[in-house]
Amino acid sequence: MPTFWFRISEIALVAGLYVLTARLGQTLAIPPGNVTPVWMPSGLMLTWALLRGPHIWPGVILGAFLGNVWAYADFSSFGSAVQLLLAGISNGIGDVLASVGCSIVLHRYFRPFRMFHSVSSASAFLVIGVAGGAAVSALIGVSGLLAAGLIDAQNYGNTFATWFTGDAIGVLAITPFALAVYLSDKTERVLPGFETVANFLLITSAIYIAFWSDVGGLMQSFELAVLPVLLMWASLRLSRIYISFALLFLIGGIIVPTALGQGPLQGIDRNTTLINTQLLLGVIGVLVLTLHATREQVRQQVRHLEHVKDTLDQKVRERTAELEEAKRKAEELASTDALTGAPNRRVFLKRGNEELNRAIRGGEDACVIMFDLDHFKEVNDTYGHQIGDRILKDCAAVTMGFVRNYDLFGRIGGEEFAVFLPNTTVSGGQNVAEKLRQAFLERSVSSHKLNYTASFGISSVLEKDRALSMVLRRADLAMYRAKANGRNCVVVYEPSLEDKTTGEGSTTPA
Ligand code: GH3
Ligand code: MG
Ligand code: MG
Repeated sequence: MPTFWFRISEIALVAGLYVLTARLGQTLAIPPGNVTPVWMPSGLMLTWALLRGPHIWPGVILGAFLGNVWAYADFSSFGSAVQLLLAGISNGIGDVLASVGCSIVLHRYFRPFRMFHSVSSASAFLVIGVAGGAAVSALIGVSGLLAAGLIDAQNYGNTFATWFTGDAIGVLAITPFALAVYLSDKTERVLPGFETVANFLLITSAIYIAFWSDVGGLMQSFELAVLPVLLMWASLRLSRIYISFALLFLIGGIIVPTALGQGPLQGIDRNTTLINTQLLLGVIGVLVLTLHATREQVRQQVRHLEHVKDTLDQKVRERTAELEEAKRKAEELASTDALTGAPNRRVFLKRGNEELNRAIRGGEDACVIMFDLDHFKEVNDTYGHQIGDRILKDCAAVTMGFVRNYDLFGRIGGEEFAVFLPNTTVSGGQNVAEKLRQAFLERSVSSHKLNYTASFGISSVLEKDRALSMVLRRADLAMYRAKANGRNCVVVYEPSLEDKTTGEGSTTPA
């Protein structure tokens, strides 16, 4: 069962990591409780539990137990062996509660990947993960030491304080960095920018001058005071990985020289020195994480607002496009005849008047053809209205395919159509009408092989025309002459047509 062995090796790995980092920390341990200033296992175990789950708890117990045995190794008597066992077990229980227990509680309040994104997540981490875990671990661990007789009752307070701050600093230093590395966006740029490098160099030199050099007094205090400012700068402007790294670096960079008896934080005794140091680092850590989380929260809100704005913009654009489309459709509907798709009477008259004015102004030829389908009432009566409609559609389609782009076509009545031909003489118009007449004859609509005919009247545009209606009246007159002449023919307007009794027009024979 591969998952079983995978779990076992994970637990072994956890225990090994615990012992290794515990030993590393114990090189700086302070008597009498052998408490270390930074307890790295606390940070590592909490991170592991947060990312992988509570099943690692046996590894934590095992690691804590082995770490204790290694630290206090004293098997000289049965009594001391029992003491060791007791201290190791209580340490293990305290650490499991602090790491696995805290990870479970923490998961209720935040997701690890959200830790740096909101002030509430960062606060939950600081209160539950850092302070709560350290308090539980110190309470159980130090009580275990007392019960095992490894410390005196009078040392309880001091040992508790250093244990607590050591665990808390361990979590503060390691967990944010480990989470930032684990959860880092792989697409983030790898090379640090100029500002990051400058910040790091300034932090390094401040730590060096304050803690390692012997420039003394004022200069050291000044560099110490500069450190929180540099960390604030990072929290507000630099990347998450770098900020958590800078915190880790700062904690290590201050704890090590201070534990070795160097730097401006030395107090009356070692314990006071370390507690003061840990408190200072704790305050900086809280500052860094909450500042960074605040910045991320503001950023997210800005992003959210931008997103809302984009969505709104998009919606407005879509609505506008829809309205424009609806307007276009409405206009088209209002200007087009629904049956044939040809421009309707209103539009034909409006555009025709514009064309008329342009032609007269430019002194150009223009003419109007009017035509009316012959015996259409009969067609309807014989074949039905549907066939009549199809003929009307066909007639419009043929005409629209026939005329030039700049000619103006319209359905001006039931089975009555008109074409305005700009730049066309009356004989040109006669030609067009004749071709249309022939084209209708050759059509066959529906299975009835039905063709249809129309009578055409033509009039040229005259300089004296004030409106299209004047031209249409003359074309109409000519068209009625075509009807009278036997239909299916073209008649050009002549003034003699005004006299109804004598007018003949010029007819193209049917
Ligand atoms: P003429 O040769 O003298 O023009 O005879 P006509 O029967 O075509 O003339 P009339 O004006 O008496 O009849 C026109 C017919 O056109 C009457 C009407 O029912 C028909 N009509 C008008 N609009 C439509 C339409 O949209 N669809 C159909 N199917 N018929 C229509
Ligand atoms: Mg008719
Ligand atoms: Mg008619």
